[in-house]
Amino acid sequence: MPVRQTTILIVDDAPDSLDLLNEMLRSEGYHTFVANSGKRAIALAERVQPDLILLDVLMPGMDGFETCRHLKAHPETTGIPVIFISGCSTTDDVVSGFDHGAVDYISKPVRLPEVRARVRSQLQMQSSSEHQKRQTRRLRMIVEGMDEGLMLVGADGRIQYANPASERFLGCKETELAGRPLAALLAEPAANDYAAYFDRRDAALLERCRGTREVLLQQADGSLRPMDLNLSPMASGEQLYVALLHDISHHKRSETALQQAALADPLTGIANRRQFDACLEKEWQRAIRTARPLSLLVLDVDHFKLYNDLLGHAAGDVCLQAVAGSLQAHALRATDLAARYGGEEFVLLLPDTPHPGAAKIAESIRAAIERLRVPNPRSSTSDFVTVSVGAATFVPTQFDDIHSLFLAADRAMYDAKAAGRNQVRSVEGGYTWDAMQRALAR
Ligand code: GH3
Ligand code: MG
Ligand code: MG
Repeated sequence: MPVRQTTILIVDDAPDSLDLLNEMLRSEGYHTFVANSGKRAIALAERVQPDLILLDVLMPGMDGFETCRHLKAHPETTGIPVIFISGCSTTDDVVSGFDHGAVDYISKPVRLPEVRARVRSQLQMQSSSEHQKRQTRRLRMIVEGMDEGLMLVGADGRIQYANPASERFLGCKETELAGRPLAALLAEPAANDYAAYFDRRDAALLERCRGTREVLLQQADGSLRPMDLNLSPMASGEQLYVALLHDISHHKRSETALQQAALADPLTGIANRRQFDACLEKEWQRAIRTARPLSLLVLDVDHFKLYNDLLGHAAGDVCLQAVAGSLQAHALRATDLAARYGGEEFVLLLPDTPHPGAAKIAESIRAAIERLRVPNPRSSTSDFVTVSVGAATFVPTQFDDIHSLFLAADRAMYDAKAAGRNQVRSVEGGYTWDAMQRALAR
């Protein structure tokens, strides 16, 4: 884009004065326009949009002051700086010139070097203020258009400015946000930390509140949204902080989905062995602490190989899904966990469940699966798919091996197989290898 030549409009009813100024400014390299009346000056200013107007005050008809008032009253010309040039140069005249919106006042008779210097200085000021305005416009566009939330926070922890993205994240207008403490937008524990930080500037809290931290944002509708919040002090004299909000809810969603997938069995949708192992570990420790009975059922589908061989692997899969469904339906408490241990073997962990209760649930599951009446024509046990169930209950102590519970239930399950399948066998504590060792050592 070609650079526009700096354009100056000279307005004077006296031809000599007009020529003098025109010649000097042209020789300085400016592009000039001239007008010999206020009326013409206004029309010309609107059309050519000069960078500066040199305006004579005393003119027949519309004088310089009136012309200036007119220029300032119209949006197309209001931004053009005006310098008065006048023979009337009492203090009152000069003050009146500035009151009319002029940026400078030059007395006649003019001294050309002075005019030259004042014009140059005015154009420089104008160009630097234009530059600043452009920068401000650009910054505003960036801040208002960015996807990240940006807020300015005062030393008292209260919001002074919030950009449109912050409004979207929080579901409320900037006017509602201004003046509110940043901490009030957050859920615990962050809310407490940020409130205390702005309250006391605690060095220990500095670590937790400066820089980036994962927080939960409280939205206007009451829901919580996971965000990265970055708080950093602005490098300026006044105590201001920039708070940036970066939406991480979609990362969180996929993270949660991944975590869930890693813990679920893809065929049946119930917990997988990994989740069972983690849960057993947790419940085993809890049972040690509370000295409460922990029960475990181990189930294995009877003659499942025959089922698969006759009806195919796909039918086998559907059968396993049905078995898993029956098992899951027996995990009634929030802490109960039904899981596929592997192949056609399933488990049900029953925290805080005494032995008779566990044995009852085991029998109920066995009966429920039989009631599914899934035909297993080659089975020598029944016409339908059945399961053998082992149940074990321990009140573990810190001397017991965590594997002993599963081993006991698994052994009981094999006892059920040996006894003819489609039945429950159960054991209650005291049979662990460790317990046996301890008894022998006594
Ligand atoms: P038992 O009554 O002694 O338990 O006999 P069984 O035939 O059930 O035991 P076995 O261990 O001989 O066979 C288990 C069968 O389970 C063999 C295997 O193909 C099948 N199986 C294991 N996992 C899956 C699976 O994910 N889908 C299907 N369709 N079959 C599976
Ligand atoms: Mg089997
Ligand atoms: Mg098996």
